[in-house]
Amino acid sequence: MPNFPDIQVDGIIEHVIHEDDAAVLREAKVGSEVTVRIDRLRRAQLSLSHTASHLLFLGITDIRPDAILGIIGCHIKVGAARFDFVVENRITLDEVAEIERLANSYVDRGDEVRVYPHPEHLDARYWECEGRVIPCGGTHITSTAPVGRMQVHRKSLGRNKERLSCEFSGSNLDLAVFYPRWMPTAASDSA
Ligand SMILES: [Zn+2]
Repeated sequence: MPNFPDIQVDGIIEHVIHEDDAAVLREAKVGSEVTVRIDRLRRAQLSLSHTASHLLFLGITDIRPDAILGIIGCHIKVGAARFDFVVENRITLDEVAEIERLANSYVDRGDEVRVYPHPEHLDARYWECEGRVIPCGGTHITSTAPVGRMQVHRKSLGRNKERLSCEFSGSNLDLAVFYPRWMPTAASDSA
């Protein structure tokens, strides 16, 4: 598809079993009916991180579009996200500050975040905020506000390679803002 990163559909999805459930798993056989519960807190934390990564991405897009074209890696974890780039020219501290300011401006406005599928290819999904659209199949929160104040840092990874990371230690995660809203409210946090 044009304007869309390569995605795989109908692929194999690996579920990592919580160690407390290892004994249950040993008893499961092919054809067994099982109930799978998602770790809601972790899912919500990663959804927040994913949303934050897009705000960082938008800030970089505006200030250093060349870096966006040179992305060689992305990593998202609880409480932080980062991108690695190949760039001709170093990202300056002034640019880092401006990228941080732009990313935080989305948080300050408390914008709504929407996710929706491609009209013909339902497995291809988009993330949208203030009319800015990023192809993404990740999980997200419904608003930018819970991300809280983002701190953006630059690190050199060697010649022509740079990393921009963001942290958001002041995030305020209300599980109710998890998107989409199909999570059962009584789901266990421990599964
Ligand atoms: Zn995403």
